[in-house]
Amino acid sequence: PAHAGRILSTRALTRHFGGVHAVSDVDLDVGTGERVSVIGPNGAGKSTLFNLVAGEFRPSGGRVEMFGADMTRASIQQRAHRGLARTFQTSKLFTSMTVADNLYLALCGRPGSVRRLRDARRDHERIGRARGLAERAGLGAEFGVEVGELSHGQQRQLELAMALAAQPALLMLDEPAAGLSPSERGQLTTVLRELSAGVTLLLIEHDMDIALVIGERVVVMSDGAKVLEGSPSEIRSSELVRRIYLGG
Ligand code: ADP
Ligand code: MG
Repeated sequence: PAHAGRILSTRALTRHFGGVHAVSDVDLDVGTGERVSVIGPNGAGKSTLFNLVAGEFRPSGGRVEMFGADMTRASIQQRAHRGLARTFQTSKLFTSMTVADNLYLALCGRPGSVRRLRDARRDHERIGRARGLAERAGLGAEFGVEVGELSHGQQRQLELAMALAAQPALLMLDEPAAGLSPSERGQLTTVLRELSAGVTLLLIEHDMDIALVIGERVVVMSDGAKVLEGSPSEIRSSELVRRIYLGG
């Protein structure tokens, strides 16, 4: 089939808010195993694009396809069922529970409950997988620590690990390092790099350093439109990108 290996495609995807052209005619493709970064200055339309793909917003025009099937009008749940996972701005962590318990619940699928946790406590196989995820997220030493005691950056790392627990076909992240200190950003970037091996990733990121380290293909947005697409080195040396980012 024409769409073999392609997890996500958008075609002429468009969203207006009143007179604001937040996203205009965007074609975006993400293939299996690819890591794609979308960059652009504030207001470029990155989050709107993300929300159109995730199903939070309805488009004014254009299409969203997953695995070649038209998902333009599919619900958030239907897209999740097809393998789309995302992290949320508002944290879904249980702060009075440990890293281990949060990961355990994520591995149980669907939003967890304390009851589910109690029932399943003796599942050693799952505990082992939870430990493995914690280690990949750089939280091996914090496995038994209550989430409320973690730093802000460590909580972000845990959210990434939880999103990966369901082994999504496509993981979408919107500015995962926003609000973190420079050292936390560095740590999160390292974790993201390690976690994303073998994961299909769509990363929305204002910070070019992170976007270019993580993405193997980079899409540049400005004023709602896709203006450039290329390898990290092509983007790094682009005069157009420099101009856009310097507020041209
Ligand atoms: P980015 O994530 O790249 O900073 P956004 O997608 O958040 O950009 O915003 C793109 C444009 O769309 C901006 O001009 C923003 O003000 C506008 N916009 C985004 N969401 C809404 C909304 N819910 N209602 C009205 N305008 C919006
Ligand atoms: Mg945004």
